[in-house]
Amino acid sequence: MVFDLSGKKDYEVKQSADKKNITISFGKTTVDKISAVHSQNKDIITIGGTGSFGASVAMTADPQKIVVTIPNCQSNLKDKINTDELQYVLDGKVDTSKGNTVEMVFRVDDLVQYSYREENQNLILEIYPTTLKNMRYDKNANVLYLDKKDKIDTGSVKFEDHYLDGYFDVTLPGDYEKLYGYGTYDVKGTVVENIEVSTKGGSTTFRFKQNCISAYEVTDEGDSYAIRVKNPKEVYDKVLLLDAGHGGKDPGTSGNGMQEKNLTLTIAQKIEQELRGSGIKVYMTRDRDVYPENSTRAKIANDIADLMVSIHINSGPETANGTETLYQVHANDSSSRLTSKQLAEILQASMISSTGNTNRGVKLRTDLLILNRTTVPSAIVEVVFITNTGDALKISNPAYQDQVAQAIAEGIQEAARKFPLR
Ligand SMILES: [Zn+2]
Repeated sequence: MVFDLSGKKDYEVKQSADKKNITISFGKTTVDKISAVHSQNKDIITIGGTGSFGASVAMTADPQKIVVTIPNCQSNLKDKINTDELQYVLDGKVDTSKGNTVEMVFRVDDLVQYSYREENQNLILEIYPTTLKNMRYDKNANVLYLDKKDKIDTGSVKFEDHYLDGYFDVTLPGDYEKLYGYGTYDVKGTVVENIEVSTKGGSTTFRFKQNCISAYEVTDEGDSYAIRVKNPKEVYDKVLLLDAGHGGKDPGTSGNGMQEKNLTLTIAQKIEQELRGSGIKVYMTRDRDVYPENSTRAKIANDIADLMVSIHINSGPETANGTETLYQVHANDSSSRLTSKQLAEILQASMISSTGNTNRGVKLRTDLLILNRTTVPSAIVEVVFITNTGDALKISNPAYQDQVAQAIAEGIQEAARKFPLR
């Protein structure tokens, strides 16, 4: 066994009394100096010692604190850190009660931000104010209130959804830097993590780093403007989660020189394009070669969508060919709204009438995690067999991929038209 260490460390090898276990422990980092000064509008805390820190630094809310955690570390510092010179740090303490981990906790003012770096066996933490002002985030209602000091044209607000990168931009027409400042508003809520406010080219962007996919609305509310963060289902009548099966480390099946994960992504992206302007809001589980866990995909469907359609490519003996659609019965199936079986039947019929593929029918599957975990109507379309020469030749053709995407998109629209989704 070769251990690649993060810095110069001593080590110790011990064998247990029963001779069955060997424990290797690596030399601890020692923290023995700390200084706290205020300079150039920043509070600068320098933590010194031996070894490399490998520290993690995080800000927590209510009350707002910056917590420095140094693993595999010991310290002979006193509990209380002298922060008399500092301007934004209210107090600081060292906690050595957590075994091998040393924790330093600094209570700070609201609307501050921080940065840290390791330099010459020092960990340097800098704390400085944001210039943010005239705003307030309500964590229970998930609303950012902006004091109304100037007219904002709410009809010209731009929305840019980067949900697969975890953020959403709300851009106000106008330079409001003097009014609202700039910097990062740490929210640390369940829905919103933080809000980055910046001004560029005459407009002001509020970038919401979100912990779950959300929709945004800007409203004029008398003495303030409100940017409301909502569940997509509160904003859109029909929400689809479109899943490109597999991805990243999970290639899915393969055959005839193709990999399932690439085909599912291509087809899903084409379906997404087909559904633009259809009145169905579409979110995708991925738009690139990455692997979200199937449990995550199902959770997103349940959290924000009315239905989920997952695209897969089948494999089997060389002679097996054609299309089948998979579903599972859900405990909350009801005659008053679309069921997974109905969704599967409509998608299967649309695929067969459009492509003339061998009709393998819809299949009840009780063994697939993504179908078992969803509580919204869900179906998996197994488009063709990658292992069949004829099917493989067809699916490698972009025109055929378009046809498949169109058939599935039409099926989704038909299901949403014929049956209530909620
Ligand atoms: Zn698959």
